Amino acid sequence: MGAMNAVEDVEHINFRLVAVLKLSGELGEDALNALRDFVRACNQTLLKKGVPESGRGAEIVRFRVLNEAERADEAENVDEAENADEAEKASDVIPGANAIEVEIHSDRYVRAHDALLRFRRNLAGVLGRYRIGLRGIDVRTYEIEMDWRDEVRVKSLPFVKNLSLSDGKLRLSLELSEREIERRIPDRILRLLYEKREMARWGGKKEHWELLFESERKEILFDRDPAEEMIRRCWIVHGASRGQWIYGPQITRIFRAFERILMEHVCKPLGYHEMIFPKVVTWDVWKHSGHARAIYPEAYYVCVPKTRDPEYWEDIADYFKITGEVPTDRIMERIENIGGLCYAQCPPFWIFLRGKTIDDDCLPICVFDRSGTSHRYESGGIHGIERVDEFHRVELVFIGTKEQVISHAAALRERYRFIFEKILDIEWREAKVTPWFMAQEGRAGVASDREVGTVDYEALLPYSGKWLEFQNVSVNGDKYPRGFSVKLRSGRELWSGCSGVGLERWAAVFLAQKGLDTENWPQSFREIVGELPEVFKFV
Ligand code: ATP
Ligand code: ZN
Ligand code: MG
Repeated sequence: MGAMNAVEDVEHINFRLVAVLKLSGELGEDALNALRDFVRACNQTLLKKGVPESGRGAEIVRFRVLNEAERADEAENVDEAENADEAEKASDVIPGANAIEVEIHSDRYVRAHDALLRFRRNLAGVLGRYRIGLRGIDVRTYEIEMDWRDEVRVKSLPFVKNLSLSDGKLRLSLELSEREIERRIPDRILRLLYEKREMARWGGKKEHWELLFESERKEILFDRDPAEEMIRRCWIVHGASRGQWIYGPQITRIFRAFERILMEHVCKPLGYHEMIFPKVVTWDVWKHSGHARAIYPEAYYVCVPKTRDPEYWEDIADYFKITGEVPTDRIMERIENIGGLCYAQCPPFWIFLRGKTIDDDCLPICVFDRSGTSHRYESGGIHGIERVDEFHRVELVFIGTKEQVISHAAALRERYRFIFEKILDIEWREAKVTPWFMAQEGRAGVASDREVGTVDYEALLPYSGKWLEFQNVSVNGDKYPRGFSVKLRSGRELWSGCSGVGLERWAAVFLAQKGLDTENWPQSFREIVGELPEVFKFV
């Protein structure tokens, strides 16, 4: 991320690493001499490669050889060497020496862990001449100290056993294995820290909002909360679960009318085909779609039994039979989380294309799904039918070359505009919303990011005076094809986009502006929805 590096550029950071490289054989006098020469070469050239004038790069400030006994004694204190000259003197031949301890200091150029990997790679050649091989690395300590003002309070981080903030410095003490060094975990920790700080600088705002289009003011025919009126008329009744409604025949008919409008005026003319996407979504999917980065507070988690052996469950069933209570805490111990219920509709679809190469001939591909519910834990935000935990959405997915995807998104917006103006006749607007991290990149001048992004559709809720997002159109760039390794035969870049049409949100918006009495509805919509069925009579 360009701008994040810019932030990094002006600040101070240093790395101090102590590691033990284990060897397959004993280091004799000759090998030790070669090692001394090699360390000198490292400090002069190898660990300075690619470092600009202004930087220092990495330096092995100290090394010594260890035998079995000393290796075991991790707690032993060693004198701190302050520069490379001392480093060379620090080590003498000892009997049974089969490990090398190095202390590496660096600035942000050739970070100490990268220096360690460079050192190891080249050391293999040096010691090979003495028939000594490398047997793995123990990272003893890894400290990072960086400028950190009051921006974000970080309390803990993965792989960080100690974290302290004082005098405008953040000090991290990392606990890492060799494998984690190889996976560049320290770089990822830093990237995460910079990301947290960038987010904080955005003042907790999720996105940058920019108005693209606003409809004319429309006549307001209703000023109450339509959900309350629907409850009164028994169009909706709370389901047994939180944020869940049982939709009666009238509102269901309205939902289906919305779907027909969508089919007639969007899906058919734009060449969409219906598919059925899965609704249980595994972590595997969310890792690739990026949802694994943030979904946790809003996910509906899905678990499966550790075994379906009835005996394993017998005591639970017996407990219920006797007490009439379901012992959920004991159930928790016997189930395993595999992912969650559908959150955004398109991620599980991408498994259909994962790893495949698409023939350019079939582009653009336009498919949609309306096969099931979406679930989000909205906590205290639940309201009416506009913000619920269980909702119904039609998701449109379009795939093509960059040009195709961009022009399809425009065509889609054209179609939607027709619906909101000519059929539903609502007061609505379109806004370009750029997530903070993208707006950030945009500022740094990454051109393609301007085409990637989301257009939110919002409508006025007269009863509250607030605007509600009721659907969106997103151009996702190559995010999904890249995330799920989907390629084009021609080798051209594959892009995609999606649009989520929330039926509850459409209904919330339409009914909030027009009310529940059909005679106040635009003729165009009345013709489509027909007569609302009256089925239940309560006494
Ligand atoms: P909001 O900011 O209102 O929470 P969002 O940004 O979380 O919305 P998206 O993730 O863009 O929404 O979801 C796409 C569409 O899914 C929304 O435009 C809306 O139609 C629908 N949707 C999302 N969350 C809910 C919900 N809790 N209840 C009903 N519909 C929802
Ligand atoms: Zn989507
Ligand atoms: Mg939301």
